[in-house]
Amino acid sequence: MPLVPMKQILDEAAKKSYGVPHFNINNMEQAQAIMRGSAEVKSPVIMAASRGALKYSDLIFLKNIMMACVEKYSNIPIAIHLDHGNNFESVKTAISLGFSSVMIDGSLKEDAKTPTNFEENISVTHEVVEYAHKFGVTVEGELGTLGGIEDGVGSGKVQLTDPNQVEEFLERTGVDALAVAIGTSHGVYKFKIKPDPDKNLLAMDVIREIHKRCPKLHMVMHGSSSVPQELIEQINKYGGNIPPTYGVPLWAIKEGIAAGVRKVNVDTDLRLAATAAVRKFLYTNPDKFDPREFLIPARDAMTTIVKERYTAFGSAGHAHDYKAMTLEDAKQFYR
Ligand SMILES: [Zn+2]
Repeated sequence: MPLVPMKQILDEAAKKSYGVPHFNINNMEQAQAIMRGSAEVKSPVIMAASRGALKYSDLIFLKNIMMACVEKYSNIPIAIHLDHGNNFESVKTAISLGFSSVMIDGSLKEDAKTPTNFEENISVTHEVVEYAHKFGVTVEGELGTLGGIEDGVGSGKVQLTDPNQVEEFLERTGVDALAVAIGTSHGVYKFKIKPDPDKNLLAMDVIREIHKRCPKLHMVMHGSSSVPQELIEQINKYGGNIPPTYGVPLWAIKEGIAAGVRKVNVDTDLRLAATAAVRKFLYTNPDKFDPREFLIPARDAMTTIVKERYTAFGSAGHAHDYKAMTLEDAKQFYR
């Protein structure tokens, strides 16, 4: 199965009520971990590049790593997605590189820091949808703002999504998926105290209300790494110094999926897994210097996380449920 529009992956997930992890990548080992994990548990794949990742890799390197995944794993549906596009230009670049999905984060201005108002958000998002759909490319928008700052993205302030605005936003923009702000944040520092299953961690009522009013909408949870404590402990044991921090527990993500979330963004967890493995390897093997030797355990550690997420979110086992849609098919659909 080749490159598919992300819309198909989310539509299929909605039919069977499961969630699909979105994993960010910066390099080859992350891409391989995602694909090895997905091949093992048979999950469709959403692989994303942020603007920071494209800048780090000089665009063309990352694009070709992602396309290598499509070539090698031809029996797995893969969507290649731009994370947090900040303006029309960044979206155009991603589409010209061959991405099958783009996010336009119209909740923030082009500086990716200053919140916009509702009308500004609608205006840029609508412009992107008009353009992207001509290529059969899926569009994710964002309403409300997340907490935290990662790769320079974020105002640092949380503004929960207002369910009263969602219908109008969908009608006037035509987005295929919507990132909702329900109290998650980007980066490793999400919660200072251990989340308690008996207390409301996230604004699940917001998700439930939106799902009730717009049952066909694919909601997206950003900032949803779980920050496994054993990885923090391993990093700190082998020379790291990460202060106490907690992520979004899997039980909270599963609650979200049950309430209509179809895509769950995970980035930090793969970073932590890689760092923990590299630190341990270099600390316990001070005579080693071949990067391949520490990148192998890093890749294996990321593969473990990937498989756990595919399984927990429910996408495992669904890679071969459907026939791939091409961007050409999607073009016809939007027409
Ligand atoms: Zn995000």
